[in-house]
Amino acid sequence: MRVLPTLALGALLLPLSVLASEPNSYAQPDQVVVTHLDLDLKIDFPHRQLDGVATLKLDWKNPQAPALVLDTRDLKIASIDAVDAKGRTRALKYTLAPADKELGSKLTIEAPKHPVQVRITYATSPDASGLQWLPPAQTADKRAPFMFSQSESIHARSWVPLQDSPAIRFTYDAHVSAPKDIRVVMSALNDARHPLDGDFRFDQPHPIPSYLLAIAAGDIAVKETGPRSAVYAEPSVVEAAAREFADTEKMIETAEHLYGPYRWGRYDLLVLPPSFPYGGMENPDMTFATPTIIVGDKSLVSVISHELAHSWSGNLVTAASWRDIWLNEGFTTYVQGRITEALYGKTLADEEALLSARALEKSIGRMPANAQKLAPDPRGVGADDALSDVAYDKGSWFLRTLEQKFGREHFDTYLKSYFDHFAWHSITTEQMLAYLKPNLIEKYPGRMSWDEVQDWVHGTGIPKNAPLPDSPRFDAIDKERSAFLAGSLPAAKLDAKDWNTQEWMYFLDRLPDVPKLGQMQQLDATWHLTGTPNAEIGMRWYVHAIAAGDKAVWPAAAEHMTRIGRLYLTVPVYKAFARTPQGLAYAEAVYAKARSGYHPLTRQAVEAVFAAAHAPKK
Ligand SMILES: [Zn+2]
Repeated sequence: MRVLPTLALGALLLPLSVLASEPNSYAQPDQVVVTHLDLDLKIDFPHRQLDGVATLKLDWKNPQAPALVLDTRDLKIASIDAVDAKGRTRALKYTLAPADKELGSKLTIEAPKHPVQVRITYATSPDASGLQWLPPAQTADKRAPFMFSQSESIHARSWVPLQDSPAIRFTYDAHVSAPKDIRVVMSALNDARHPLDGDFRFDQPHPIPSYLLAIAAGDIAVKETGPRSAVYAEPSVVEAAAREFADTEKMIETAEHLYGPYRWGRYDLLVLPPSFPYGGMENPDMTFATPTIIVGDKSLVSVISHELAHSWSGNLVTAASWRDIWLNEGFTTYVQGRITEALYGKTLADEEALLSARALEKSIGRMPANAQKLAPDPRGVGADDALSDVAYDKGSWFLRTLEQKFGREHFDTYLKSYFDHFAWHSITTEQMLAYLKPNLIEKYPGRMSWDEVQDWVHGTGIPKNAPLPDSPRFDAIDKERSAFLAGSLPAAKLDAKDWNTQEWMYFLDRLPDVPKLGQMQQLDATWHLTGTPNAEIGMRWYVHAIAAGDKAVWPAAAEHMTRIGRLYLTVPVYKAFARTPQGLAYAEAVYAKARSGYHPLTRQAVEAVFAAAHAPKK
């Protein structure tokens, strides 16, 4: 997933505070494991619900196990049956525990006779945390309703009863019925030529963790972008999306060249309406992506490199628990940089690495000590600190350090062997380290000590002498920014005419938290940042202009916040407004109008900003 290049929004994703043995799931994989899921779903747009039958194939581990325990959230269970080898059914007793705020309801199914399959008939709630239902008015083309899932981290349980833990992998197939003229896609092999007859079938033959279970449905067109890739999007978006993502096949070939074959068959992309809360989500065979990366010049397609990279780091080799999530996100951010470098050049890859490193340097000191660690102690991590840029940017920085110390050739060989060794498995940080030690660190002695490795993985802050790429262009921007802030260089004299997206991001990122109003007005008068269609630049501009007290930008900021539900681009603008009583009142009025178009996760995040602003100051 690409959540947040520079800002910590972890609270929304997972309650790490409850991490104990197996943290965020009631599943008992030492008793029984789900090996295959057969789904039969009906998409009911008017009632905003899925009517489902989930049949789980079971591998009983403990001969004495009395029950199958599953994760659910807000599901209405109609019946549960055991299914024998001949397909005969028998009703089973079950209890649905009262809902835990973070984990949902534990479903205990009495099954002492250990049936080979259990069949659950159920329906989802209109407020399912893992689904968003959009009326036609909230789509680009406004012709049909749209729905999509976001299962990571622990939201699959809100639309399928299952063992919702990344440690457990299963294959799945699905039959989905939908209204005619609606296309349904899933995180499985999709057929671009499938008729829109309301009757779809899917097969995911590879074992995946539950957070990669995904579905979407709407007025979706398709355009091929390569021999094994296509773009799916609303009809008015699909052409621009196909142009923006025209390099997809080259990206796949680059990653294959580095890390071995792409093992999933097809790599398709679904562009969602702007309310999608993330940059992208690496659902196997069908990445879900925000439309905010379609800017016309491919400058933000590293989100696609990122999601594609997850086909190796994350989907093929998976973090076994949310505490180990850096194994997904840190490795992926590193691989993303390598794909960007191969396709768009070292300058851009270095700029992106520097942007994230500088942002991490700024943010990491403000985090609690435990949250600064790549592999935090699961106890004592507050929910606010769970998934931050530490997993992404400290993780990838560690891998760039390994590459620098051992040389690219050795490190590439190592990483390829790591993916092969752990393919189709979910692993812990300790397993990663146990493989790293003999196969890289000790294989080439004298390049990096084990203490240095431990410092990266278990230490706080950023290790001393962590290598940073050079960027003469960023250095020049640092000088220009300093001169501008000191008043010796007027905004009109900034050499910004040819700055790319990343260079503007870098210029704006390093402005003071509260810049001078006159300077912000000067900047806008020359460079017309207010109203920019580039949301990465827009977010950074509005945050600083609002902090400076520039009320002239408020309406454009409101438009940005209303149009975009992507957490990372929207929540910081709310936070900027929330710093003053007048700004807070304005942001609350914007939210009242925007709320119905937001994903449940975005609503939760914005409401948390307001709650913090209203809380009595300590
Ligand atoms: Zn990711």
